[in-house]
Amino acid sequence: METILRKADINDEETFAMAGDILKAGGLVAFPTETVYGLGGDALNSEAAGKIYSAKGRPSDNPLIVHIADTNSVYELAEYVPEGAKLLMEAFWPGPLTIIFKKKSVVPDTTTGGLNTVAIRMPSHPGALKLIKDSGVFIAAPSANLSGRPSPTTAAHVMEDMNGRIDMVLDGGPVGIGIESTIVDMTGERPTILRPGYISGKMIKDVVGDCIMDPALESVGAGIRPKAPGMKYTHYAPKGELSIVESDDIEKVINKINELVQEKKEQGFKTAVICDTENVARYNCQHVLDAGSRKNEITVSAALYSLLRTCDDIGADYIYTESFAEGDMGYAIMNRLIKAAGHRIIEV
Ligand code: AMP
Ligand code: MG
Repeated sequence: METILRKADINDEETFAMAGDILKAGGLVAFPTETVYGLGGDALNSEAAGKIYSAKGRPSDNPLIVHIADTNSVYELAEYVPEGAKLLMEAFWPGPLTIIFKKKSVVPDTTTGGLNTVAIRMPSHPGALKLIKDSGVFIAAPSANLSGRPSPTTAAHVMEDMNGRIDMVLDGGPVGIGIESTIVDMTGERPTILRPGYISGKMIKDVVGDCIMDPALESVGAGIRPKAPGMKYTHYAPKGELSIVESDDIEKVINKINELVQEKKEQGFKTAVICDTENVARYNCQHVLDAGSRKNEITVSAALYSLLRTCDDIGADYIYTESFAEGDMGYAIMNRLIKAAGHRIIEV
């Protein structure tokens, strides 16, 4: 199949009409959101949803998020909308928060990976909103990467993974946030974060008075099953071996990484370093990758997945990264980085 690539210019009615026609006919269109690029299909069309799993090579038990453009659409998809969820919708939609509801029967099992709940989000990206509105369909969309690769933050990443596998890609330039939406489950007794993201636990607590983390987020390897099926897969791992080097003292981190790089270089391996903008000049390594400033964590989240792809492109055998645990987004960034590192953390 030939994949059509078009700019997601919201004044280009012809492009959006074409994308809408593809979605209505059960085809797949990748599109920008404020978090990462999504791979969209008609959420209420089981066959279209099925195509998303095939295009990504995604396990069929890993449900899709349904994207809507109007808060009222929730009532068409969710069996019950708790008061707390209404407050969250008001506070954070459109935006990077996905809410889990009990599903109505119109939502096919294919979309929800067989679960009786449905994940719903209203994105704030103007291109995403226009696509949902113009197509007239609710768009089921996971991240537009091949399963196991980092989520795409540019249309070029999407093309790398999906060229020839889907009907169309809308290019909206680099995304703003760069890591996937926060997922909060509102079907249980307490609001529970299943996946951390830009909207933090504190922000949710400030609105609904309570919020806990899914125990599986905190206790990796303890055999606790995550409530978001996708969180159990080893996502985002670069081909090289990634380690996080941590200390209270950044000087110790820099020295340790330089030592490890030297050691691997002598053994004939290719290395890369991921670090704060401020420290770029401090590393003796051929590939020093600037992750942005931890004083402004969104620069780090926006760069992270792209840097992991770069590590693959340069064929790094060993990758060493500083830790980026600071600020409101630190928890979400480290959730992704620790996974990418397969939990390899070197304390110095
Ligand atoms: P992606 O958009 O690729 O980041 O994938 C969607 C994420 O949402 C995956 O981690 C899914 O496991 C999660 N998800 C989607 N629907 C549900 C649901 N009904 N219950 C729990 N997690 C869900
Ligand atoms: Mg994904």
